[in-house]
Amino acid sequence: MSAIPTASHATRIALRGDLLDFTGEPGWGDVDTAAVRWRPNHWLLIENGRIAGVQAEAPPEGWERHDHGGRLIMPGFIDTHVHMPQLDVIASYGTELLDWLENYTFPAEIRYADPKCSEAGAGLFLGALLANGTTSAVVFPTAHKVSADALFAAAQQRGMRVVTGKVLQDRHSPDGLRDDVTQAEKDCIDLIQRWHGRDRLAYAVTVRFAPTSTPAQLAMAGALCAADPTLYMQTHVAENRDEVRWVRELFPEARSYLDVYARAGLLHRRSVLAHGVWLDDDDRAALRESGAHIAHSPSSNLFLGSGLFDWNAAVQTGAAVSLASDVGGGTSLSMIRTMADAYKVQAMGGKRLTAWKALHSATLGAAQALMLDDEIGSLEPGRIADLAIWDWAVEPVGRRRMDVARSLHEKAFAWMTLADDRNLVETRVAGVVRHRRTGG
Ligand SMILES: [Zn+2]
Repeated sequence: MSAIPTASHATRIALRGDLLDFTGEPGWGDVDTAAVRWRPNHWLLIENGRIAGVQAEAPPEGWERHDHGGRLIMPGFIDTHVHMPQLDVIASYGTELLDWLENYTFPAEIRYADPKCSEAGAGLFLGALLANGTTSAVVFPTAHKVSADALFAAAQQRGMRVVTGKVLQDRHSPDGLRDDVTQAEKDCIDLIQRWHGRDRLAYAVTVRFAPTSTPAQLAMAGALCAADPTLYMQTHVAENRDEVRWVRELFPEARSYLDVYARAGLLHRRSVLAHGVWLDDDDRAALRESGAHIAHSPSSNLFLGSGLFDWNAAVQTGAAVSLASDVGGGTSLSMIRTMADAYKVQAMGGKRLTAWKALHSATLGAAQALMLDDEIGSLEPGRIADLAIWDWAVEPVGRRRMDVARSLHEKAFAWMTLADDRNLVETRVAGVVRHRRTGG
């Protein structure tokens, strides 16, 4: 388990509320799954930043008690694909992926060559995650080494579990954002030595996407992964149809877009691939066999008009799926808004996503996909106390809907569909309050 900062949380803290987490994976469409663990009106005990236990009765003297009776307490959300510098281009009008990158995203990311811009951006970004109840994330900074350094340092200051790495892109990118194989390799090795495995930080070999890396750079990235199997790998795959066509032109030898990564040694147990909208069954089988997983980004897929991800097909093939905001293609850092969009995407395909499947994918499911479930994703004793406390409702329509809900799933689904950051009371990282709603 990771070492965590010890200052300021040597206390014993007890939080009372409706505890909701998962002990297994909910089946597709199963609203009565045994995988959900519901302990209303219980006390969650936190000692030295870790979950120490759960009990119905109030703890004895010596515990600092916080009574959130009637509120929901869940593990902090895990956002498995999000771009730190793209807060600057969130909600940009009028383009699909490739034009969106060229017109908005690349120009914005060039600014992060400036260490001051990167430092300010990292602080703003992590503060915004915490203000949405997200305590862990797999993050793209920019191609600049300073942007990765700034993000690692900011996450370390906050004690957060963050997986990130300098973005690799050595072609089809503007001046100021393009690296080269030799320097990029040096930068990666230096960042890995300084940050990977330090506190709660881990390094991800970060390939922007196949079109912006030469075969030589992809090979270098694959060699980094082969040299250290504890490294993560993150990239994008099969997001948009024009992109898929372009990849086919650039890599005619590959069977599919996903196969470009497989051939470069980039498809493995710690690979996180954003989107995967345009995959076939052979791709899904390759995901299952490698243990790599898809970071489904519904808000981004809708906003950029990329397509409708078939979650059920992934489930049928045994490929793992986590949930991701993909800001700035996505329009909100809120994982609740992301879940609500995920439901709508599945509905467009005639399928129904349960609240349990959605919530699991943003907590325990993501933790398992990242091989971090001994640290995050549940309220199990021994896990680091990363959690969020939510109001079930904060305004009359939400309150009314909660009052008339007849089952736990109905209540949780209505919450997932109606709630947002106004419902968030506080966010704790390793037991320490890192965000608190103003006004109580
Ligand atoms: Zn992305």
